[in-house]
Amino acid sequence: MSHTNPTSTPLLQASGLSKSFGDLQVLRSIDLTVTKGEVVVLIGPSGSGKTTVLRSLNGLEIPDGGRISFAGGPDIDFAAPLRKRDRLALRGRSAMVFQQHNLFPHFTVLQNIIEGPVQVQKVPRAQAIAEAEALLDRVGLLEKRDVYPFQLSGGQQQRVDIVRALALQPSLLLFDEPTSALDPELVGDVLTVIKELADEGWTMVVVTHELSFARAAADEVLFMDGGVIVERSGPKEMFTNPQHERTRQFLDRIL
Ligand code: ADP
Repeated sequence: MSHTNPTSTPLLQASGLSKSFGDLQVLRSIDLTVTKGEVVVLIGPSGSGKTTVLRSLNGLEIPDGGRISFAGGPDIDFAAPLRKRDRLALRGRSAMVFQQHNLFPHFTVLQNIIEGPVQVQKVPRAQAIAEAEALLDRVGLLEKRDVYPFQLSGGQQQRVDIVRALALQPSLLLFDEPTSALDPELVGDVLTVIKELADEGWTMVVVTHELSFARAAADEVLFMDGGVIVERSGPKEMFTNPQHERTRQFLDRIL
């Protein structure tokens, strides 16, 4: 464990999550607990269901069954039809950073960052701007506040997208392969920002193939295959002594 010790307070508890697309069962009873301050890294082959887990936690995908609860929020049971306010509660607890940035092309960097806080969360505009500037400064991009996303490198776009997520002040950050679309030389800066956020105590679930990041930042690594969490352990254990054959085969392929 490389950073602030997670507390034992569960921030998020998900159990028995299942999801099918037509005949394809993508999630098969996924259980996941994330404690406050914890960094959970999700690894596994393409198509194993990692993105669907993240999207389910964020309310972008509605599971067919199982439950999700955030500390202090409703216990959402997907066996029943999802109520709009439960979905909104879910959406409000986490913010997601995608493989490709999610910035509006016709908004400046600053406009992109304050859009959610001002329009959705009704934060006063001056306050939202001050917070956005402070966050941009932290990731070394304050001088880019008035440019448009296309004027940034891919790595800068992702760092702005991370700031956009942080500005929403979510209790949980979700990263879906945040560096996999970047040129190799741009990956490091983005991973450094994510690692710094982890060190500051942000709670996050990260889907990534960057095992050096997982080694350095993860408190727990989950290996998924075929819609199931096959194995879960600390990074050292997972990468040096995986227990399952499927985990070994996967790690052999990507190491
Ligand atoms: P991973 O993130 O591990 O690559 P995903 O969660 O993206 O896996 O996808 C798991 C499986 O679900 C894949 O076979 C994918 O094609 C399928 N899938 C994901 N989203 C949809 C969708 N909206 N409609 C149909 N199939 C989907």
